[in-house]
Amino acid sequence: MIQLHDLQFEPFISEAEIENAITKVADQLNEEYHGKNPVFLGVLNGAFMFASEVIKRFKGDCEVSFVKLGSYEGTSTTGVVKTLVGLNQQLKGRNVVILEDIVDTGNTLEEINRILELEGVEEYQVATLFFKPEAYKKAFEIKFKGLEIPNKFIVGYGLDYDGLGRNLTQVYKRKE
Ligand code: 5GP
Ligand code: MG
Repeated sequence: MIQLHDLQFEPFISEAEIENAITKVADQLNEEYHGKNPVFLGVLNGAFMFASEVIKRFKGDCEVSFVKLGSYEGTSTTGVVKTLVGLNQQLKGRNVVILEDIVDTGNTLEEINRILELEGVEEYQVATLFFKPEAYKKAFEIKFKGLEIPNKFIVGYGLDYDGLGRNLTQVYKRKE
């Protein structure tokens, strides 16, 4: 068990399970985007670890870019997604793959959808390491999912609780 700020967390997803999930997503991306020079668009901060691992496994040309969005305060979403660092690259006409740490309600994806439409990106896909099917409320299909998890608050592997826990190499869930 570990403590971050005022909360306790217990081990939930091992390094091996995370690694398997990443390998699965990377294999799918290699198949889908072979020879297509995709742009991987990581969503900061949470996706930095997943982005690095999945991009390392991509064979062939690709480009890497990041946006920074935020909606979480403490252990729940505020429902309002803020753009903290925007796009700095032309994406029109490119094969864009959004890399997310976790898709929860889908509010963040909706905001990314809006940003990409403004950019004139016609088609893009989402790859997320973790997905909470019970919390997801949107129609947009998420094509590449590492692991489906129950509707619990998790930390580790890039995911934080008020800034702490991103460096943990396995995933923990809030102790009930
Ligand atoms: P959504 O906008 O889909 O509700 O949430 C997406 C963002 O909320 C994620 O990119 C992540 O930053 C944060 N988030 C969602 N669920 C969790 C969770 O269980 N733990 C942590 N630490 N962050 C989460
Ligand atoms: Mg995120």
